[in-house]
Amino acid sequence: MQRYSFFGLRMDVSHSAEIIIFIPMLLDLLFPNRCLHCNRIIQGDQLVCELCFVQIHFTHWNFLDDNELKQKCTLLFPVQHAFALMHFEEEGLSRKIIHALKYSGREKAGLVIADWTADRVDFGTKKPDLLVTVPLHPKKLRKRGYNQLHRFTEKLSEQWQIPFDHELIRRNYNRKAQALQDKSHRKQTDNLFSLTKPVQHRHILIIDDVFTTGNTMSAVAWEILKSGKTSVSVLVMALD
Ligand SMILES: [Zn+2]
Repeated sequence: MQRYSFFGLRMDVSHSAEIIIFIPMLLDLLFPNRCLHCNRIIQGDQLVCELCFVQIHFTHWNFLDDNELKQKCTLLFPVQHAFALMHFEEEGLSRKIIHALKYSGREKAGLVIADWTADRVDFGTKKPDLLVTVPLHPKKLRKRGYNQLHRFTEKLSEQWQIPFDHELIRRNYNRKAQALQDKSHRKQTDNLFSLTKPVQHRHILIIDDVFTTGNTMSAVAWEILKSGKTSVSVLVMALD
């Protein structure tokens, strides 16, 4: 039998399986999960404590109803339905939550945000056929190591029983010289994205993190709509 001592805590470990269980417990003890807002220790993989959770500025919208995001999208492209989970606030919790997901390497935060989303979205009879994510620029993907929308979307796909496709939309990028040359006669959103395969007769839900100007969402939506006989709806974590 082997005997281990960690910071004065003595324990006997006779099987390697016990060590495997013990290591995460030790890590939890040394680096407990803390609330993003008040720093209180919290259980599991949650992002905020119960006290801070009630401070999150959720939209409380219904997917099928008219709302501010749908109105914004309608100005840019034909949209069926639109839903934002939270209002994005520069000084608020929604910013901390999305920044944790995007810039603090907390990829699993997407799973928690997906749970909050699934609890609040009811498609009624308008359930989309496919979930599609906006691709990251390859430079950002290399730096971050993951697309922050993937775990989020995969969890929602499982909950809603709707397939997802992370590869449908491809981000186009020109070589620098060509981009500079073309810049003067190229509109900002032209040819930013393309489809990797044709889609028809589908109601596609496009998923992104924050809706700000809508330029990205519009460029993706038009690529899908161009392929014909498709309709699009929009779901974002937050509306700026
Ligand atoms: Zn808290």
